[in-house]
Amino acid sequence: MFSAAEAEQLILTLVQPTDTVETINLANVSSCLGRVLAEPVTSALDFPHWDNSAMDGYAVRASDVQRSPVTLQIVEEIPAGKLPQKSIEPGQAARILTGAMMPAGADTVVMQEETEQQGDRVTILQTAQSGSAAGSFVRQRGSFYRAGGELLRAGQVISPAEIALLAAAQQTQVQVYQRPRVAIISTGSELVRPDQSLQPGQIVDSNQYALTALVAQTGAIPVPLGIISDQRSAVKEAITAAMSQADLVISSGGVSVGDYDYVDQVLADLGATLHIRAVAVKPGKPLTVATLAVANRHQLYFGLPGNPASAMVGFWRFVAPAIAKLSGQPGPWSPDFVWATATTELRAGGQRETYLWGQLVAGATGYEFGQSAGSHSSGNLVNLANTTGLGVVPQGDHQIAIGQSVRVLKVG
Ligand code: AMP
Ligand code: MG
Repeated sequence: MFSAAEAEQLILTLVQPTDTVETINLANVSSCLGRVLAEPVTSALDFPHWDNSAMDGYAVRASDVQRSPVTLQIVEEIPAGKLPQKSIEPGQAARILTGAMMPAGADTVVMQEETEQQGDRVTILQTAQSGSAAGSFVRQRGSFYRAGGELLRAGQVISPAEIALLAAAQQTQVQVYQRPRVAIISTGSELVRPDQSLQPGQIVDSNQYALTALVAQTGAIPVPLGIISDQRSAVKEAITAAMSQADLVISSGGVSVGDYDYVDQVLADLGATLHIRAVAVKPGKPLTVATLAVANRHQLYFGLPGNPASAMVGFWRFVAPAIAKLSGQPGPWSPDFVWATATTELRAGGQRETYLWGQLVAGATGYEFGQSAGSHSSGNLVNLANTTGLGVVPQGDHQIAIGQSVRVLKVG
């Protein structure tokens, strides 16, 4: 049986990043968020675009303000957006406002607080303290970025800061990778939809909803395909259909050793290669990872166990990194692990790496993690609400005491 780390490594070697590209328009900001740049973005503009003032004050020649006080003649006022009309000659200054373009001749800005203006004359009061060395309070053209350089790298995920940068660079059309389509199948003859009446013995298909939400959160496109009964032919038909319309397929249920667990058999029937059938984790030990050749590509299949906590933990630990790589993100694709101080005791059986769901919070001196109250049975989803982290008890360990360090997988 693979360890979690081994399984993750193997899974990532099986993922071929998408190479299909589409153009998105910056005007639709929401549709740009979370997308992955397919090529580097460069700009023809320098940043700043021209020398400009970092302060409200006076644009001067540094050589004029080496001693103070000194009085200069104001030749014009330059608010932001106005093109300076005059060149600053020795003994002259221009009133300048933050962001305004520096006039020719001037190389320095003296802040307003260190001056006194009377009519068309300004007295510079304290140049010794005010940093009037040449270039003070001037943002030099190109000092943040030089035109033609790489502004954003390929593989960059577009978040609000990148949106701002693209806008400032006037890049209104950008090339991004197509979002992968992820098909979701629930297997189980006992399953009903949330809107169906629940008969004794039946179980509501919550996994379809959990996995759809989890896939959406990664930025991929969920393709929920509904419930498949535990019949070999039905499972085969469903997997075949799913493979043909998605880049990745996730099923839940039907991967353990029960009489009605057909997923692995069907995958073998279809000619898939089964790379993983179990991982030493709790919850979620039965985990099927297979690849199937579909039209020149190796398509990845995840068979997660049916128990709700197992399916979610399996997704967070193994599926999310695969989707990140599939989406064209540059990596590392591993989940975010942080160290935290345990605020509750964490217990485990010791045979398998154990994931306990709970709340990860930023405390005054670092992260803190406490497991959710209530049962940590893989069949319990009631206390999964408000999960922000999974505390990990390593294989071989039975307990992490309050106050000890715990490795936590960040979720949400
Ligand atoms: P299985 O992995 O198919 O043996 O299922 C294990 C347990 O998870 C059984 O109690 C199932 O009823 C339950 N289960 C399976 N699929 C789902 C699902 N889609 N939603 C909620 N519970 C499920
Ligand atoms: Mg089942």
